[in-house]
Amino acid sequence: MPNMLESEIKYLPGVGPKRAELLNKELGIKTYRDMLYFFPFRYIDRTKIYSISEIEPSMSYIQLRGKVTRVNVIGDKPRSKRLVATFQDPTGIIDLVFFQRIKWIKEWIKPNSEYIVFGKPSYFNQVLNMVHPEIELATEENPIYVGNMLGVYPSTERLKKSGFSNKQIAKFMATLLKRCQNSFSETLPTYTLFDKKLLSLSETLQNIHFPKDIKTLSQAQYRLKFEELFYLQLSLLKQKSTREKSNIGIKMGRVGNNFNTCFKALPFELTNAQKRVIKEIRQDLVSGRQMNRLLQGDVGSGKTMVAIFTALLAADNGYQSCIMAPTEVLAGQHYKGSLKLLEKTNIKTALLTGSTKAKERKILFEELLNGGIDILFGTHAVIEENVQFKNLGFAVIDEQHRFGVDQRSKLWSKGDTLPHILVMTATPIPRTLAMTLYGDLDVSIIDELPPGRKPVKTLHTTDNQTDRIYLFMREQIKKGRQIFIVYPLIKESEKMDYKNLQEGYMSIIEEFKAPEFITAVVHGKQKSQDKAHDMELFASGKAHILVATSVIEVGVDIPNASVMIIESAERFGLSQLHQLRGRVGRGAEESWCILKTGYKLSKESRQRIELMCSTNDGFELAEADLRMRGPGNMEGTQQSGLPVDLKISNLAKDFQILEESRRYAQAILEQDPLITDEKNRVLKTSLSLLKREQKDYSQIS
Ligand code: ADP
Ligand code: MG
Repeated sequence: MPNMLESEIKYLPGVGPKRAELLNKELGIKTYRDMLYFFPFRYIDRTKIYSISEIEPSMSYIQLRGKVTRVNVIGDKPRSKRLVATFQDPTGIIDLVFFQRIKWIKEWIKPNSEYIVFGKPSYFNQVLNMVHPEIELATEENPIYVGNMLGVYPSTERLKKSGFSNKQIAKFMATLLKRCQNSFSETLPTYTLFDKKLLSLSETLQNIHFPKDIKTLSQAQYRLKFEELFYLQLSLLKQKSTREKSNIGIKMGRVGNNFNTCFKALPFELTNAQKRVIKEIRQDLVSGRQMNRLLQGDVGSGKTMVAIFTALLAADNGYQSCIMAPTEVLAGQHYKGSLKLLEKTNIKTALLTGSTKAKERKILFEELLNGGIDILFGTHAVIEENVQFKNLGFAVIDEQHRFGVDQRSKLWSKGDTLPHILVMTATPIPRTLAMTLYGDLDVSIIDELPPGRKPVKTLHTTDNQTDRIYLFMREQIKKGRQIFIVYPLIKESEKMDYKNLQEGYMSIIEEFKAPEFITAVVHGKQKSQDKAHDMELFASGKAHILVATSVIEVGVDIPNASVMIIESAERFGLSQLHQLRGRVGRGAEESWCILKTGYKLSKESRQRIELMCSTNDGFELAEADLRMRGPGNMEGTQQSGLPVDLKISNLAKDFQILEESRRYAQAILEQDPLITDEKNRVLKTSLSLLKREQKDYSQIS
């Protein structure tokens, strides 16, 4: 018999095909199970009734009790037409405003009866109001709100517009729970419930939707969070151990001429952190297992060097390497940088990007196939199907956060044997996130910058201080320094953003006139020759100023640039700001990062800017970022970048549960690596369900 939980949601009494479609489209709910696992994201203590006089604009959802004294329908155009009910308690008056279902509400509301209303207060034209509150007769006995805590479910504009209130969802949920009562089969092993003192699944689901009390609610939340993170970790760890066992790695035991020659010719000494990471990689290369390593290191910590030395090891053992960067600019820079570094070796390198000409491409492909090229640098063009290697032994993905995991696995499948993989990122990922995102990788960290770097001084200014900034820029240019000016570029506001950049560029060339001053400009709308030309102008030191969109965010290395001016800094995220700041402070000169913002800032933006001014430590910033933003938020407006949807856990807050669940998963795998024990049967079932649910995350950018 099919499980009740797999029933389509349209069969739930009261739902029907039309609403089912809406639930599906807006919330992805298709089955009873989906609905049951659609959790409230907040709870409201419905025993508390506020007085109107207590209301403050900052309040979230609250409950009021009072009388409707007057009902007016205002406006006649469809868009502005609304019903305003004047609602009164002994302490004050508030307007209840309805734009939809006006006729229905008008008939339903009875003046001078007592109501309970529930909604979010706000001010409109200085009048206190509540738009589309829930409203019910105060005497009404409502079977749903038996508990003290009312769950508030995530919603969308469309759902609200279609009259899908929170109350409605709660009603469906109540029906659903009753129906499914006897159909829940436990999703964790009995011994786990016992070990971890967890509520049973049916108690958990009952209480997550309709909590008996706060204590039971938190037990229910704990069980769901634990379960969610536990299965995630179990699946990642299992994947990792399977891979470690089955993926035979190419053995690269030799440290040969290329490596040694380059090492001796280095103009500087490797930092201890770089040496340590190279050692860690060496161990992987001789282990006989395929390496899958994430290299984290703050901007400017010298990750490229690690990649190159590993590529040299591969070459010394007769294998080709491939180093993939997210932008043409960056790939070009890696390529050019390597030429000098590898001067004294026998290594042959090449560059492949989207703008490599067909003729060059043909030659390059041949050389790759016959082994004439040792290291291929490039953009994602290198993973296109027609790119074939003779024997790819090592692949690097630089700035991983720009690539999808999908691309990572494409690289893997280039040859007969899997190459060793090194994923490099300058976005310091907090531990909790790394455990989730990259739970199947080994992690190395460069936690030391090359000597002689001075911390970048970060200042905050507002838009009306342009004259002072110009003065400062002149001083710096006189000292022989170069300056970045960066504009935000966001898809949704692309047109405006380009306009801002163009205007900014115009006022710079107006103020800093050629030929005394040369200003380069780089953005995504340019032809790639123009981009390369201007980039070169700046990189070679001929241009004093570079006006750019955030394309320069990753990797560009111009040691002589000592000033980074970020326009509309409030529109960037913390880690982006930090990345940008990392573009300066690479030479030994004193360097500056100037964050320009509008005069008025939201609390959150102000916090971000202040944090930037107070620390240079990328990891500290990343932790703060995660705390402030959370990895993705409930309304689904922010892309979380996570390989799975976390329904209830919050990585910023639940790291303890995450660690605990990871340890627990590890212990289980140690006893039963393939999860075949009878007592773990439910683990196996749940894991396969999890796999089915994993979303396609190749889109992450
Ligand atoms: P990132 O980790 O941000 O990719 P890069 O690899 O681009 O950093 O290195 C930044 C700069 O530091 C480059 O100019 C590089 O040549 C230089 N560099 C790397 N390692 C060292 C070192 N050990 N000592 C001095 N400079 C170094
Ligand atoms: Mg780099």
